[in-house]
Amino acid sequence: MLTTFDTLKFADEEIAALKKENRFIQPRVLQSAQAPVSVIDGKEVVNLTSNNYLALADNQKVKKAAIDAIKKYGVGSAAVRTIIGTMSLHKELEEKFAAFKHAEASILFQSGFTSNVAVCQSLMSSEQDLLISDELNHASIIDGARLAKAPRKIYRHKDIKHLTEVLESPEARKARRKMIVTDGVFSMDGDIADLDQVVEVAHRYGAFVMVDDAHASGVIGKEGRGTVSHFGLDGKVEIQIGTLSKAFAAVGGYAATTRSLRDYLGSVARPFLFSSSQPPSVAATCIAVLDILLTEPKYLKKLWDNTAFFKEELKKAGFDTGESVTPITPVMVGDMDKAKALSARLFEEGVFALPLGFPTVPKGKERLRTIVTAGHTLKDLKFAVEKFRKTGRELGII
Ligand SMILES: *Cc1c(COP(=O)(O)O)cnc(C)c1O
Repeated sequence: MLTTFDTLKFADEEIAALKKENRFIQPRVLQSAQAPVSVIDGKEVVNLTSNNYLALADNQKVKKAAIDAIKKYGVGSAAVRTIIGTMSLHKELEEKFAAFKHAEASILFQSGFTSNVAVCQSLMSSEQDLLISDELNHASIIDGARLAKAPRKIYRHKDIKHLTEVLESPEARKARRKMIVTDGVFSMDGDIADLDQVVEVAHRYGAFVMVDDAHASGVIGKEGRGTVSHFGLDGKVEIQIGTLSKAFAAVGGYAATTRSLRDYLGSVARPFLFSSSQPPSVAATCIAVLDILLTEPKYLKKLWDNTAFFKEELKKAGFDTGESVTPITPVMVGDMDKAKALSARLFEEGVFALPLGFPTVPKGKERLRTIVTAGHTLKDLKFAVEKFRKTGRELGII
């Protein structure tokens, strides 16, 4: 029986308002595995929109690890970690992940989102603390900061001078704890935080650093170890956070840190205490990806070869691809209607690249965001560039 509720009529009004602002979202549907060439809404397209950096989401070895784990351990843990949801695979992944990050210990969460919430809320637990955040940090850091008791101060994107001013402010000087939070790789622009400088000023002013490596783990640094490795800062960054849903191709998040901070989070972090643990097959997937990163450098190499080729070709075609130095390549359009039109025309031509507008990116910075993967062939990328050139000209973008 279909029911309408007068009491929920507001949803229609809200949707109408969103539509007016070009903010109503109706996602396309993936009907195949997440792959370099995927079936989306019934059409085979070159997929430039996933975070499947290493193209391991449909990898035989990784799938076998997940299937074996299901056979041995079943499909779910049916408990939170602190009840009886800590399985041997979670312990194994935490230990291997800590070693990968050159940290003493690590703790798993259900997602990158909950990792940020868990750490910000747990460590910034008093009004006397201060959370200091880059203005372009991910939404989950902003939400984590909202759940923290500490006040927050925002510094201008990658502006170390402004960060220093914040650290010199009276609020910072009298704070009990100061935590500086930054994305490692910024998800919309593909630029990298100047983590070496952030760490230097942090320690000069007695603050500690949390870096969110969602788009950096499995992507930058030696063997994909992330931003800390990229800058040679091993042993100097207090907390490394990230997701297991991008290059790691599964779902989940982590914080790699000291043993005592890990154990503290395991006793107080609300997502750890009140939301069930990853299914064993997911932990097994991540262990298999870690193993691939350490033993098969070809995936990372291909990712970066593809990145260089695709950026170069888009630039040659006349597109503005922003400041990115990572596989995230924005194609700037500057207007949401136009960005949507470009995405729709590309899709008709067999290429999927998602348009992004306000509030995900600032007004005037509307764009298509593309991410190449290790699984794209040169032929896929040449095809995509040719279609970008064709549709970009049609719409007067180049
Ligand atoms: C994607 C992303 C997250 C969220 O990770 P999930 O595992 O998808 O919840 C957090 N932080 C940053 C910077 C991200 O890009």
